[in-house]
Amino acid sequence: MLQKREKVLLLRTFQGRTLRIVREHYLRPSVPCNSPLCPQPATCRNDGKLLSSEVTHYMIPDWKVVQDYLEILEFPELKGIIFMQTACQTVQHQRGRRQYNKLRNLLRDARHDCILFANEFQQFCYLPRERGESMEKWQTRSIYNAAVWYYHHCQDRMPIVMVTEDEEAIQQYGSETEGVFVISFKNYLDNFWPDLKAARELCDSILQSRRERENESQESHGKEYAEHLPLEVLEAGIKSGRYIQGILNVNKHRAQIEAFVRLQGASCKDSGLASDILIHGMKARNRSIHGDVVVVELLPKNEWKGRTTALCENDSDDKASGDPPSEPMPTGRVVGILQKNWRDYVVTFPSKEEVQSQGKNAQKILVTPWDYRIPKIRISTQQAETLQDFRVVVRIDSWESTSVYPNGHFVRVLGRIGDLEGEIATILVENSISVVPFSEAQMCEMPVNTPGNPWKVSPEEERERQDLRKTHLVFSIDPKGCEDVDDTLSVRTLDNGHLELGVHIADVTHFVAPNSYIDIEARTRATTYYLADRRYDMLPSKLSADLCSLLGGVDRYAVSVIWELDKTSYEIKKVWYGRTIIRSAYKLFYEAAQELLDGNFNIVNDIPEFRDLDEKTRQARLEELAWAIGKLTDIARHVRAKRDCCGALELEGVEVRVQLDEKKNIHDLIPKQPLEVHETVAECMILANHWVAKKIWESFPHQALLRQHPPPHQEFFSELRECAKAKGFFIDTRSNKTLADSLDNANDPNDPIVNRLLRSMATQAMSNALYFSTGSCAEEEFHHYGLALDKYTHFTSPIRRYSDIIVHRLLMAAIAKDKKMEIKDNLFSNKDLEELCRHINNRNRAAQHSQKQSTELFQCMYFKDKDPENEERCISDGVIYSIRTNGVLLFIPRFGIKGAAYLKNKDGLVISCGPDGRSEWKPGSLQRFQNKITSTTTGGESVTFHLFDHVTVRISVQASRCHSDTIRLEIISSKPYMSPDTELFHQSSLLLKSDLVKEVTRSVEEAQLAQEVKVNVIQEDYQKYCQTKGRSLYMLLEEIRDLALLDVSNSYGM
Ligand SMILES: [Zn+2]
Repeated sequence: MLQKREKVLLLRTFQGRTLRIVREHYLRPSVPCNSPLCPQPATCRNDGKLLSSEVTHYMIPDWKVVQDYLEILEFPELKGIIFMQTACQTVQHQRGRRQYNKLRNLLRDARHDCILFANEFQQFCYLPRERGESMEKWQTRSIYNAAVWYYHHCQDRMPIVMVTEDEEAIQQYGSETEGVFVISFKNYLDNFWPDLKAARELCDSILQSRRERENESQESHGKEYAEHLPLEVLEAGIKSGRYIQGILNVNKHRAQIEAFVRLQGASCKDSGLASDILIHGMKARNRSIHGDVVVVELLPKNEWKGRTTALCENDSDDKASGDPPSEPMPTGRVVGILQKNWRDYVVTFPSKEEVQSQGKNAQKILVTPWDYRIPKIRISTQQAETLQDFRVVVRIDSWESTSVYPNGHFVRVLGRIGDLEGEIATILVENSISVVPFSEAQMCEMPVNTPGNPWKVSPEEERERQDLRKTHLVFSIDPKGCEDVDDTLSVRTLDNGHLELGVHIADVTHFVAPNSYIDIEARTRATTYYLADRRYDMLPSKLSADLCSLLGGVDRYAVSVIWELDKTSYEIKKVWYGRTIIRSAYKLFYEAAQELLDGNFNIVNDIPEFRDLDEKTRQARLEELAWAIGKLTDIARHVRAKRDCCGALELEGVEVRVQLDEKKNIHDLIPKQPLEVHETVAECMILANHWVAKKIWESFPHQALLRQHPPPHQEFFSELRECAKAKGFFIDTRSNKTLADSLDNANDPNDPIVNRLLRSMATQAMSNALYFSTGSCAEEEFHHYGLALDKYTHFTSPIRRYSDIIVHRLLMAAIAKDKKMEIKDNLFSNKDLEELCRHINNRNRAAQHSQKQSTELFQCMYFKDKDPENEERCISDGVIYSIRTNGVLLFIPRFGIKGAAYLKNKDGLVISCGPDGRSEWKPGSLQRFQNKITSTTTGGESVTFHLFDHVTVRISVQASRCHSDTIRLEIISSKPYMSPDTELFHQSSLLLKSDLVKEVTRSVEEAQLAQEVKVNVIQEDYQKYCQTKGRSLYMLLEEIRDLALLDVSNSYGM
């Protein structure tokens, strides 16, 4: 029987109106207690995770302890923790989604001995709030009451320690109930966990920062910022349209001044605003931090401001900002924060001299975050001097209205400033990528495969699966040196004359059971991370490079999609999905496959599978394989032509491919003109992804994981159109079809870079492709714009993408459903799947950002400490691809670098070029036109730079202590660069990018050898952070088209 309770909240709004908010909830006689000591487990329905029976006591943290010390409660050494619902809810309301999700993950994590107790739904635990009782007191009282109930429920057999920060509660409840102890958290750690040094230190650090905060708010009277409005007022205001909700996005080039709020949820449709809202200045930002979900009030129109259009550098006292801002746009101020998205931040401590100048509050230090968008943070520490040469992780605790800066505490040291490993660790933390080695518990789930005890196909699986080993010629085509083969192909003629095409994908979900340790880890990582010089795998190499990898000549489990096609029209007659056993006959690399396709059979000596055959067999097999590749290519051409009719896009970025040798060194880059066989493989994968998407959506219309690519905003195309016009091309952006066609036509026969830049601009105008749950949006929104398909998903790379693992499980469930069999795995509900999609999308962005940032790190290391005046590498050709009021944006084809070059320097001088093109700085002025910019000196000389002009550029590095170094570009001549080896210009820019990574890595290693002490540190770091040590600038073939849709390098302070 359920009893209904009502919680009534009375709130006063701004205008003095009173809002009455009623929340209902239902009480039950029993809720799961999840204790192994439970006297009636059936009544309690304890079917989830249970507390360990190996503990001496249960620990119940009070709400404030959960809020402030969650990172300590996460220590796996702490066992027997009961989180009360009351405490969890305050975390949700006070600390935001990120923190709340951390708590939920902790509760789900089988390795961590803790449970949730829904005390507010338990009829004997629930306490109504008394008149005049504060929320805080009521929460503590509720938790204590539940602790006492729990103690008696377990028949007084397990002592309970309630941990609270409330002194009064310790006094009042400390000796009230025998067996239920109430003490402070510090007291708890000191007495129960004297050996857990790390936890106790972290506790001290948090306590100290809090004490100082309290002292300070007593001292200071002046308010720096307006108070935030209460949650209920914010919610009511959003509903009524008075306030607008969105995500705060700080402009990293003007972090002190400019932030934008991108509208979210209902605000997006209802506000009638077409653009973002500008938040001008720190006061109006009102303590919100980049990424927070904020509530904004619009200012009256006469107070609106424009965004800055000039190029600018990152220092705040920027002299170049005398330019008039653009037209006024909706401008507002933050009145409250709905969700704080605080994360771990990497910071740099001030140098010794700076500390001294910070003066009187010497143990309170202002540290500078690596991310420009995050404000300085105040840290209480006595270690400022020892930490000054290191990158350090801190967390923000609070930001009071009385304080200019947020307060935070020190967490850990990452590494020395400027060291490769320290900088890579910085990039990882900044993208919230955690890649500790796989644990013993996770590795224990791996199947055995040793020389003495090799893995074999099991008889049960042999019965269940379609066996293709004797009937199908299966082979893979991958980059040279690829270890993790996700996908293989087959094609043959059937007895009825039809063709049969097969795509066979590694059966990862056979080895990775839902909610196993490995599954949870893979879900958390969501993807394999590829940095410029290394990668972090999503799955242990035992699976990714061995048992799941569809290597040649060994039996492997696969999930197959097999189509029957008409032999001439290639029309699809039938499709079959299911689990199979395959043995791949050939593990081909792209060049070899292309040679076979071209009828050049000399390549056969490079294919190991052909080596030990007699001439006759070899010839027969060769012909068989060449026929298959040819047939596949024919089919792919046909499928591609069909998509092309619907407007599939080919965008810049497609040709990024890297080849590795056996030792995983970058061996070579695949030539810029992609081989047709790349297309063949990619097209087959797109086809499989498309058909699997249709299948899982038909079977589970409200809970299938698909991938959408929304059409781009037309206004983002205006720059592309203008640029093309400058070269006399017309870009029709009305549909993906017209865009694709007009991009194909926009080709300057004298300069291939023009087309490349236009495609790259089109890419930047695109929205990102995203995963979503089909229950969360209307069918017409499923469309994939870039691929011109109505339904699309990711199925073909389960070794390196978690989305594909989910899709495999959905496909298996769909097959079971067709056969009217029981669906074994629990599928995600629409809501849970949507949340998972958000997580995976977020991790993909992190993967892309970290890849880009690590590439930039290598670029800077390549040019750092080189003399830009004399070194050959520092001078290069550059192409202008955008005009700004005080400079131009340049693309350096040789290194693949994009960046800004100023035409007006800090002293207000402008560029002037003599007859030979050489530049100098002179007094004068700039005049910007649509497609060109002219610099005129007071002496009357003038020079004009047009879009797509080639100029000579000097590349140097602007070093920064607190942030990443950046590449600086300077136009040294208005003429194109004539290098001794001009043909470089026509080669792939990335050819040199890979050399660049190699050279930097080598010089870093040499430097390490010179300092033996350092080497140990580095190796330790490797163990800590890397699963695979290798230089793999490796990118995924079948995803390239899709990946190219996101270019994160799009802003230079525009
Ligand atoms: Zn129970």
